[in-house]
Amino acid sequence: MSTIAAISTPNAAGGIGIVRLSGEDAIAIAGECFRAHSGKPAEEMKGYTAAYGEVFDSEGPIDEAVLLIYRAPKSYTGENVAELCCHGGLFIMQKVLRTVLSLGAVPAGAGEFTRRAFLNGKMDLAQAESVMNVIAAQGSAALNAARSTLQGSVSKKIEAVAGSLVTAAAGLAAWADYPDEDIPEVENGALLQTIVAAKGELEALITRYDNGKAVTQGVNTVICGKPNVGKSTLMNLLSGYSRSIVTSVAGTTRDVVEETVRMGDILLRLADTAGLHETEDEVERIGVSIAKERIENADLVLAVFDSSRPLTDEDRSLLELCKDKRCVAVVNKSDLPAAFTTAEIEAAVPHTVVVSAKDPSCADALRAALEATLGTEGLDFSQEMLAGERQLNCAKNAVACLEEAKAALESGMTVDAVNVSIDCALNELYALTGQKATEETVNEVFRKFCVGK
Ligand code: GDP
Repeated sequence: MSTIAAISTPNAAGGIGIVRLSGEDAIAIAGECFRAHSGKPAEEMKGYTAAYGEVFDSEGPIDEAVLLIYRAPKSYTGENVAELCCHGGLFIMQKVLRTVLSLGAVPAGAGEFTRRAFLNGKMDLAQAESVMNVIAAQGSAALNAARSTLQGSVSKKIEAVAGSLVTAAAGLAAWADYPDEDIPEVENGALLQTIVAAKGELEALITRYDNGKAVTQGVNTVICGKPNVGKSTLMNLLSGYSRSIVTSVAGTTRDVVEETVRMGDILLRLADTAGLHETEDEVERIGVSIAKERIENADLVLAVFDSSRPLTDEDRSLLELCKDKRCVAVVNKSDLPAAFTTAEIEAAVPHTVVVSAKDPSCADALRAALEATLGTEGLDFSQEMLAGERQLNCAKNAVACLEEAKAALESGMTVDAVNVSIDCALNELYALTGQKATEETVNEVFRKFCVGK
């Protein structure tokens, strides 16, 4: 296999810049453009050692550098790896990269180092997928979840589930194939139990992922309510609470803006916040249909009401729209005399908080309501957590296959029919961990990686 090279540090100036090589010739190529001050050739360096010296090209020295050597199979990729750590100037890094490419290395594709780690059995696909989650984590809970998956917690869980199904399927096959032999007939009850238990484990993983998503990926949130109820003020409270707007991206159209704010561990992606700044007239002109569309597309709704004025039909139609959604009702302006009790709102939206958006101390009550609504309360992020939508789909498909297996068994269908469904579940589980993933799936996973990882 070719020897690949890439700049592994960001494409920007920094203290240190690293050009990484992986492949059979990684150490030989690094040795051709690096001279250690000690005089020791790179080829004679042991794994896990470093040398201080100079990196140079055909025109002369480029920079001072430290060369790190890892020898196969004890490296990230499982291959020989050399890392040239230079000053983190873009020009320097590009020059060093060009030099190693001129000496026979080829440019690494996105995620190619990790892809090689996967192909060399250093990690499975579920673990590989969590590498980018570790890099992308924006809080300690998200980081814990990604680290746990990277260390193999999801893979272990899936292997255990698959193992129980393999044992069950083997029993079925043996009994069906050799009916005359003295193989005990597979107990329907025991088999059903195995299927139900496997399905339960997978469903628990799916629920944990859905609940954890607000932390690991952020939750698409809209703030809705009549004009003047305090939506902008609430937005300011949220932004002020986190003290950092993580992103503030102007969208492709003038009035679509997304801001991400963090409340505790929860990331709220507040879409279309520009809409909050429209004048009263405009909001009324746009009307309920837009609100409806926005609410439908959101994962979470913050429905805001003004407690100092009686509820109106508009408020009631908002409550109606929120009925089947994950929603927190924010009854605002608690510093003013109340014009209604919250009973009607609470009847429609179980998670209701009474706040004054002008009072920063109300943020904690809001955070608690969000955690309760999203199910992140008490969620242990150091436990196994699926690393993304691909893994989620595999788990969901496996559950669907197990449901079929269960139905087949309960309706007294042939052993073959049950076995086909168990096989289908196993295929999904093996796709999840990469044991049986197609080339296409593997490509899809690594396409999302950055170059150099
Ligand atoms: P929006 O139209 O829903 O975005 O409402 P705004 O956030 O612009 O607020 C409308 C008016 O209500 C402004 O004058 C705010 O200062 C005021 N307001 C917002 N929240 C509170 C609150 O908790 N208490 C009081 N007394 N006034 C508030």
